[in-house]
Amino acid sequence: MRIVLIGPPGAGKGTQAQRQGQQLGIPQISTGDMLRATRRASSALGEQLRELMDAGNLVPDELILELVAERLQQSDCASGYLLDGFPRTLGQAEGMRLRNINIDQVVQIDIGEDELVKRLSGRWSHPASGRVYHQLFNPPQRPGIDDESGEPLVQREDDQADAVRHRLSVFHEHTKPLLDFYQRWSQTGGPRFSVINGSGDLDAVTQRLADTLKPQ
Ligand code: ADP
Ligand code: AMP
Repeated sequence: MRIVLIGPPGAGKGTQAQRQGQQLGIPQISTGDMLRATRRASSALGEQLRELMDAGNLVPDELILELVAERLQQSDCASGYLLDGFPRTLGQAEGMRLRNINIDQVVQIDIGEDELVKRLSGRWSHPASGRVYHQLFNPPQRPGIDDESGEPLVQREDDQADAVRHRLSVFHEHTKPLLDFYQRWSQTGGPRFSVINGSGDLDAVTQRLADTLKPQ
């Protein structure tokens, strides 16, 4: 199954993609995680990514499309994938069509902005695996330490209040139009489109997502 998760920063895309990916036996493809791995390089590209991402701006469509198209060629994607954070613009959705990157279902994770700010200010991540925690809502067993690897957790530069505000406005301007686009397309033979409520308990959201992914 080929799935796209769309929602504002902090909606729980990464958390839920990890859980469903394990359940369904398909990889979570997070463009944010892929870019964070690339930006560590001391190259001109690394420098460009650090500047754009720390400020909460999107990276250019062409670059993301190249990165995703290459990743989807790998053998673990043969029976499906869960796209987390991609596409994020109409240009990226159009680029997918041109490159024959097909999807079966698009799920919008809907959530109020007050909750997002609380979630992002307490987020801690394990960069190597993409596992995410929250200091109150989903704490690791030992503060600041990843449960599985024992390695240190980090807080993201773009989870600072200014960058969060900007990322929310970027979501409204560039990503929200995608929701209309997919909803309309679903009525004329495109991928199935559904909306789930992303607020409340982590397990409750996982169940809602699992229910909406069931064949209908
Ligand atoms: P996204 O990938 O959409 O930016 P994340 O999955 O990284 O969002 O979640 C953002 C933060 O919110 C993380 O700290 C995560 O642990 C926490 N979180 C995710 N889902 C929930 C939930 N249902 N209730 C409370 N906190 C949550
Ligand atoms: P995320 O981990 O999904 O919150 O993404 C973190 C940052 O990576 C974003 O604020 C963007 O700078 C960049 N990014 C991730 N995915 C995309 C995408 N599909 N298009 C453009 N920029 C992206």
